[in-house]
Amino acid sequence: MTELTGHSLIAGRTVAGTGAPIHAIAPATGEQLEPGYSQIDVDQLREATAAAEEAFASFSTLDPETHASFLDSVADEIEAVRDEIIDRATRETGLPVARLTGEVARTSGQLRMFAGVVRTGLFRGARVDPAQPERTPLPRLDIRQRKVPLGPVAVFGASNFPLAFSTAGGDTASALAAGCPVVFKAHSSHPGTSEIVAGAITRAVAKYELHPGVFSAIYGPGRTVGQALVTDPAIQAVGFTGSRSGGISLVQAAQGRPVPIPVYAEMSSVNPVFIFPGALEGDLAALASGYVTSATGSSGQLCTQPGTVFVPAGEKGDAFVAAVVEQINASIGQTMLSPSIAGAWREGAATRDENADVLARGSEGEGPNAPGPVIHDASLERFVSNAVLHEEIFGAASLIVRYDDVSELPAAAARLEGQLTATLQMADSDIDAVRELLPVIERKAGRILANGWPTGVEVGHAMVHGGPFPATSDVRSTSVGSLAIERFLRPVAYQNLPEALLPEPLKDANPWGVPRLVDGQF
Ligand code: NAP
Repeated sequence: MTELTGHSLIAGRTVAGTGAPIHAIAPATGEQLEPGYSQIDVDQLREATAAAEEAFASFSTLDPETHASFLDSVADEIEAVRDEIIDRATRETGLPVARLTGEVARTSGQLRMFAGVVRTGLFRGARVDPAQPERTPLPRLDIRQRKVPLGPVAVFGASNFPLAFSTAGGDTASALAAGCPVVFKAHSSHPGTSEIVAGAITRAVAKYELHPGVFSAIYGPGRTVGQALVTDPAIQAVGFTGSRSGGISLVQAAQGRPVPIPVYAEMSSVNPVFIFPGALEGDLAALASGYVTSATGSSGQLCTQPGTVFVPAGEKGDAFVAAVVEQINASIGQTMLSPSIAGAWREGAATRDENADVLARGSEGEGPNAPGPVIHDASLERFVSNAVLHEEIFGAASLIVRYDDVSELPAAAARLEGQLTATLQMADSDIDAVRELLPVIERKAGRILANGWPTGVEVGHAMVHGGPFPATSDVRSTSVGSLAIERFLRPVAYQNLPEALLPEPLKDANPWGVPRLVDGQF
């Protein structure tokens, strides 16, 4: 059983912060959880970033098998303390055991996926353009390219995925897979969960005799220590999931540095769902139930929660809405992640009450932080003309927008902000109308899905969990799936270097057996 220390874990050492401790609050009861977590200061932060910088040379040049086995080992170490993690995370986040059990599996699964990525080596981006000494009018020189890790990465843990987007989550796993040491800023709402997982990573670092600076987990206020982390010269990239204001502030801090760095912030998305008339010819109760489950599961605290749903006017649309209303009115609020997130939800819902009509409201759940889910509705005209209705309410709230004709959808979609997802509920009879909408939503969203619901993001090689601002701060990236590793790499070309100086992936004999593009051919 891990004994929680309440302190940061800097390069394998427990470091007591100089600041007053803060406690997690159990959102289900309001109880203060022990231990308090001492907050480090900026000087103590420097120990973590300096160690990460020191670790970079050896970690970034690890042979693929040691590197991949280390990632597998982090997964093993996490699984070995699964029950402890779930027990603490349940108390700290109010999330149900089943959800957290799935999240542990997702977290270890994505570490193992990245181990596979390291073994296959495609991410190294090896390209060889052999010399052509006989080429006229000028000979071609030997040019070879590969991708190298950027350097130490700062990761901010998300409140809503205490495992899969936190200490050893997708940002950390993809940065470590790229060969970047990580300085992790724990989220104040689940510090104990973070400490248990940080211990698991630290054990794997020690087992493979890696430089201890490969991983540090720190506790400190975002506005001081978090800002100092992003502006620390050692840090070369940032991964973040959280509020729009927090993400924007980190982007600005990173851009204001003498040497600016990329920030991959995932922030805000209402994940529009377009219900086409053909979709209303099927089982309306099942369609409504899919929507309500996706909008209210995990208290709606999922980045891909369907926050805006376009529904045709008319009898069938009315019947669908009636089925939704019935289910929402019968629903009961689940505990939200923290008192502040529940408070922000209540404020957002109250603002929406003033800007749209309430269609249905569930009952308050048990405890102080379990507001009943709510669904509002608005006409398309009202939606398009009122920017307040485009804002995300993080939690179980969703807006139904009624439209008269499918021809109105492309223009309405063009008014939306950038999104993680856009969903099409459709039948074959809707193909022509969907074809008109598709080019508009391709410019808005990172993932387009048909006849499903946007929550439940598969971790795989083809997944994109990203999108235009404010879904993320960098439209070219994904924070889920193996492509997430690209965020922490950059290409370097080597022109005319002697074989003895070339990195392994580019040597003639290709000793690591990495896939290579040679003269334009795989
Ligand atoms: P948050 O307030 O943005 O905090 C996330 C992390 O960033 C925390 O560690 C926080 O540190 C740090 N941080 C925040 N502002 C910062 C700043 N200006 N400079 C440096 N660091 C900063 O997010 P949250 O606490 O998870 O949730 C608050 C709201 O974020 C939610 O109500 C929701 O609207 C949104 N959210 C969205 C998603 C999504 O997937 N779209 C996910 C989670 C949350 P401190 O706690 O120490 O300040």
